[in-house]
Amino acid sequence: METDIDRILITDRELAQRVKELATQIAACYPDEDTGLILVPILSGSIIFLADLIRHMPIKMKLGLMTVSSYSGATTESQGPKLEMDLEEDIHDQHVLVVDDILDTGKTLRFVRSKLSERNPRSIRTAVLLRKPEKAPPDVTADFVGFEIADEFVVGYGLDYDDHYRNFPHIAVLKPDCY
Ligand code: 5GP
Ligand code: MG
Repeated sequence: METDIDRILITDRELAQRVKELATQIAACYPDEDTGLILVPILSGSIIFLADLIRHMPIKMKLGLMTVSSYSGATTESQGPKLEMDLEEDIHDQHVLVVDDILDTGKTLRFVRSKLSERNPRSIRTAVLLRKPEKAPPDVTADFVGFEIADEFVVGYGLDYDDHYRNFPHIAVLKPDCY
């Protein structure tokens, strides 16, 4: 795996520090512990980000899983969001925080937000680890953003290429012949 990596963009230490900051910032937005908070991680890319984030959020919360995929197989070309597994939890009148790995063209977050808002949550906010500002349209914003990166295809810390490299601890770019 290591031999496929071209460059590391964000190290595990930088990720740990920034995720902790984000967690503090997010938790401060939900001060009322009696009001239901449900985190909706978009699988599978957000799993490691989610796991690190919530362990720094000492507030009452539930998790509701949703799987949306835009890439199938060995490609770096998005095919548009496809709902693979829908959320089962009742989010009516609950605060919802959508957690995703990366905001790229914004199609995924736009799709997820519209699906969830049909179910009348009390609020919907979004947290993403990464954002590619060159591509994201102005109408799709995230309330919490870890890092802004250039428009290149990245892997590691949960993000995959053809389902590999999710376990690489840093955010990195692969060697050109590995795509
Ligand atoms: P969007 O719908 O905003 O274009 O893309 C969001 C989804 O596409 C993300 O949840 C992620 O799964 C995938 N994606 C976008 N850019 C990248 C990237 O650079 N690397 C990887 N591994 N996935 C990406
Ligand atoms: Mg995704």
